Amino acid sequence: MSFCVSCGKDCSELLDGMCAECWLDGRKIVTAPHHTDLKTCTGCGEFFLNDRWVRCTLLDAVQDAAFSSCGVIREAEIDRKKTKTLSVEAQDPYVYEVAMEFACLVRGIEVSETVSTTVRIKNTVCKPCSRKLGNYYTSILQIRSGSRNASGDLISEALEVTENFVGRQAETNKQLFITKTEEVPGGIDVYLSSIQLGRSAAKELADMYCAEFKESPKLVGKTEDGQDMYRLTYLVRLPEYHTGDVVLFENRLCKLVKVSGTGGRVLDLMNFRERAVRRTEMPDLKVIEKGSELKRAEVISSSGSEIQVMNPVNYSVADLRVPEGFVPGESVCVTEWDDALYLVP
Ligand SMILES: [Zn+2]
Ligand SMILES: [Zn+2]
Repeated sequence: MSFCVSCGKDCSELLDGMCAECWLDGRKIVTAPHHTDLKTCTGCGEFFLNDRWVRCTLLDAVQDAAFSSCGVIREAEIDRKKTKTLSVEAQDPYVYEVAMEFACLVRGIEVSETVSTTVRIKNTVCKPCSRKLGNYYTSILQIRSGSRNASGDLISEALEVTENFVGRQAETNKQLFITKTEEVPGGIDVYLSSIQLGRSAAKELADMYCAEFKESPKLVGKTEDGQDMYRLTYLVRLPEYHTGDVVLFENRLCKLVKVSGTGGRVLDLMNFRERAVRRTEMPDLKVIEKGSELKRAEVISSSGSEIQVMNPVNYSVADLRVPEGFVPGESVCVTEWDDALYLVP
């Protein structure tokens, strides 16, 4: 049988020859520094905690920093559930006094100890934000419209697609961002923080519009460790066609009803049958009339598979074939081609 050298009590498990109570008597379990610094980024507002940048509230960050700064002797095991903040007092917006109660177990004995420390907020700029501020970029996405007289709408729509795409990527990786955008004749240049991001954004756009994209590297210097450093330019030429346009495909007048990464679908305006267009055939589409510029013709009467409308250009009455189940309103969209009028459903 062993006994405590301090109080003489019989005890089977001794720490430095003492029973747990004697060993704990007057001993500090937790040490807190006088103060600790908490870095915050003035760009994005994130806090640097446990070696990484995290997004959280100031109050959470201050408490986290205070607890992380404390040290607990190795014989003690922290009881996370019972360990808590007692108070957080702001001395000014940059200095917080945090009082904490640590609950620990030492050899089966519950011990609680109260400590406090000062958390000082230090403004800094995280790497992604400093890159953003420094106009850092490694790739350029050049969005261009295929037709000379294309509307700016198509370019701004493509830019929005790209911004949304980058936004989704940035949710999980803040190293990914758009540095800047620059309007240029015929389109827009989007400067991006990563080559991979440039490539995937170009692919996303190309798939969406069934367009082609070209990649061209440019040597811009050497990295610190002597490797060649490249910038990549991705050129996406947006096609002239757009969903809703009236197009000519294999000498048939069609309405383009769908554009995707694998190709498109057209509705033949001569027989109202839909057919697929392979991606390789998409460049063959010739735009006859933009969907947004289609004229409307007033409906005079309708009878089964035909309707009578007034030609909006010369006011003559024309018979139009309509697809099965088509219910005309007071007016319908039409297009004129080869001296004949066609319904665009
Ligand atoms: Zn003892
Ligand atoms: Zn930041």
